[in-house]
Amino acid sequence: MEQYQFNVAMDKYEKIHGYQLTGHVISFVNTILQAVLAVLVFQQSIGPFKQLLTFATAYVLADFMSGLVHMYMDNNSDYESLAGPLIASFHLHHRTPRYKQKPFVAVYYHESGSKIWLAFFLLLSVAGVWQGAISGVAAYGVLYFSILSSIAEVSHYYCHVPQPKVVQFLGKTGIFLPLRHHMRHHFEDNTNYAFLNGMTDPLLNVIAKAMCRGYKNTTDLHYARYTGVGTANR
Ligand SMILES: [Zn+2]
Ligand SMILES: [Zn+2]
Repeated sequence: MEQYQFNVAMDKYEKIHGYQLTGHVISFVNTILQAVLAVLVFQQSIGPFKQLLTFATAYVLADFMSGLVHMYMDNNSDYESLAGPLIASFHLHHRTPRYKQKPFVAVYYHESGSKIWLAFFLLLSVAGVWQGAISGVAAYGVLYFSILSSIAEVSHYYCHVPQPKVVQFLGKTGIFLPLRHHMRHHFEDNTNYAFLNGMTDPLLNVIAKAMCRGYKNTTDLHYARYTGVGTANR
């Protein structure tokens, strides 16, 4: 039954122009709003110590958020909802070990299109900073968090293409998602959901164990009869 619902959802995703357009619009909105937010925030000064601390905190939170959203999506089989086609399309990331190679900027832009929640977060952040309700450390915090949330998608992307030397270095130092750490998400069940560098996975794994059934015996089985190509290789 769920395999059928999955295929119907993917059919909608492929035939209803609005679903793929959503990705393009979200990419555009997220990138533009990040640029506007950066211009607004860089007019303020908080000093190097607070900069460093804010950036480090944003790094941890962006990693955690990436894992939380990924966990929610991987364990969601609501294919008949309005978001169903987007959920089904997302699940295909487990079926696609190798993504199509693209330049860094294209990956940043394109992968930001899956982050609908980020568009709302950015809208509120830009409005807040514009109106002066968010300033100083908080303003830099929302800026870094939003950019690192997009970087998280890039970090994950590089686990699915041949890694350039600089990315291998970033993975080894734990700045980006280490390949071996992330592969556990694909080979095992209900584990290592984080996308930025995986530092919050110990906590996310506890939450996953308590709240989720996992994907190997659930959502991963739903695309068994789907024969299309999905989005990662377009
Ligand atoms: Zn996953
Ligand atoms: Zn992956």
